[in-house]
Amino acid sequence: MRLPQFKFLHFSPTTRITLGLISLLVGLLMVLDLVFKLLPDQRSITLAVREQVSVHLALQVRQMLAESPQPQRLVNLFDQVVSQSDDVRSVGVRMVNGKLVAQTLQHPTAWQQPAGGLSTITHVVVPLNTPQGRWGQLEVAFTSPWATTLIGFLQQPTVQLVGLLSAACFVAFYLYLRRVLQHLDPSKAIPERVRVAFDTLTEGLIVLDLDGHMLMVNEAFRNLHPSAASASLLGKKIGHQAWLLDGIRGQHDSPPWQQAIESPEPIIGVEVDLSTPDGSHRRVLMNCAAIKDAAGNPRGCLVTLDDVTALDRANAQLRQTLSELHASRDKIQQQNDELQKLANCDPMTGCFNRRAFFNRAHELMTQAQAGGEPLSCLMSDIDKFKNFNDTYGHAVGDLVIQQVSRLLKRAMRPEDVLCRYGGEEFCILLPGMKLDQAARVAESIRAAIEAEAGSSITEVPNLRITSSFGVAQLGKGGALTLEQLIDRADQGLYVAKESGRNQVQSLEWQEAKV
Ligand code: GH3
Ligand code: MG
Ligand code: MG
Repeated sequence: MRLPQFKFLHFSPTTRITLGLISLLVGLLMVLDLVFKLLPDQRSITLAVREQVSVHLALQVRQMLAESPQPQRLVNLFDQVVSQSDDVRSVGVRMVNGKLVAQTLQHPTAWQQPAGGLSTITHVVVPLNTPQGRWGQLEVAFTSPWATTLIGFLQQPTVQLVGLLSAACFVAFYLYLRRVLQHLDPSKAIPERVRVAFDTLTEGLIVLDLDGHMLMVNEAFRNLHPSAASASLLGKKIGHQAWLLDGIRGQHDSPPWQQAIESPEPIIGVEVDLSTPDGSHRRVLMNCAAIKDAAGNPRGCLVTLDDVTALDRANAQLRQTLSELHASRDKIQQQNDELQKLANCDPMTGCFNRRAFFNRAHELMTQAQAGGEPLSCLMSDIDKFKNFNDTYGHAVGDLVIQQVSRLLKRAMRPEDVLCRYGGEEFCILLPGMKLDQAARVAESIRAAIEAEAGSSITEVPNLRITSSFGVAQLGKGGALTLEQLIDRADQGLYVAKESGRNQVQSLEWQEAKV
């Protein structure tokens, strides 16, 4: 049968030892008192005091009777004594024949003749004598000195003495034991062979009690930090180890070992950065798990510390290498792009060169034919270009080509393909466009060149630049291959040149006109 567990009765070992010592002390005191009468005898002291009071009263009685034998004077005296003393219940004077000659009112009920005529602690008898012999006795009835209530019991001097002694000893023993237990080597509680086994572990290991005192640490833990190597570490609180506590990363309400004691799950992978006085750093992973007794109550905590400094450094190295790799990959990619551009584009205008153009053009042809979509081609040539070279020089000729290509590019959709086909000749593919749409595009570009190209070359004022265009659509006029399509656009261009330049011509229109 399991007894109910009362958590509030769980005293610490120090408190339990202290309580045991106090019980032993009180027990010993009682035995010694029994044998050697160490404590003052309350009963005999009280009896002696009461007898003295009674004798003193008897003397007064004798004196008063000698002065004047009036019983009323005695009664007045007795009443005065009873009213002034809490302990005295009643007083009376009795003749040897048993007759009361003077007494207080309560005396007949309060008085009980003690057996054998000897005084007791509550009933004191003092003989009254004359030289002729005994003529009577003074009887004094006292209240019982023994407590009848708890407060009365506690107020007794002996009880107070034992109580105060116990309380003072409890405080003194507790403080002393706490200090002494701290200096005892708690590791002696762990068997030697277990400690040797723990020392073979590469992980640092600490066994804590419920208050966080270090009961055992292994070799690997001692090697973690110079402060951990000190032999006096045992018995000290782990929470007082600033070198360890300061290294715990992140915000925590309570330290991990405390959390592990309070939670049903272990606390895993707490990162700890240890800094040694020589400036070196260590990265440690801390795991904490509660040590429980058979009933499942926590009795302490097992803390393990895994030194991951080397792993951490390797990771940092790896991250560095990776970022360098990414940087060089990006650089290679950039160089590849530049190479690609150099291989595919004309450096002066940035338009596709012929090789790249034909690669892309074949793709567009296949797509258009497969999807039954229209595809149109423009051929464009700068009018009387040779004159620019001849009149203003080659450099201005180059500028003219660049400005015309800029305006061509501006008119392009993302899916269109623009190629510098020859010196001042451009070929354009317009996927999805029919002949008339393509002719309108050509016309707007032509108008833009006529309006803007000349004025954009500031080096030569009033330059007039125009271009001629030939337009063709795939399938129309029998153009079924790329070469045939370009050829028909070129024929259109030829017609445009022949017809006076600065115009757009499609062969189909021409044929229609004829
Ligand atoms: P048309 O109106 O009949 O086209 O007359 P055109 O003068 O434009 O035609 P032509 O074919 O006679 O002249 C083209 C000239 O373009 C010949 C060549 O010297 C010049 N040329 C070719 N490539 C370049 C180049 O990259 N830069 C310069 N500045 N001139 C070039
Ligand atoms: Mg030309
Ligand atoms: Mg030409």
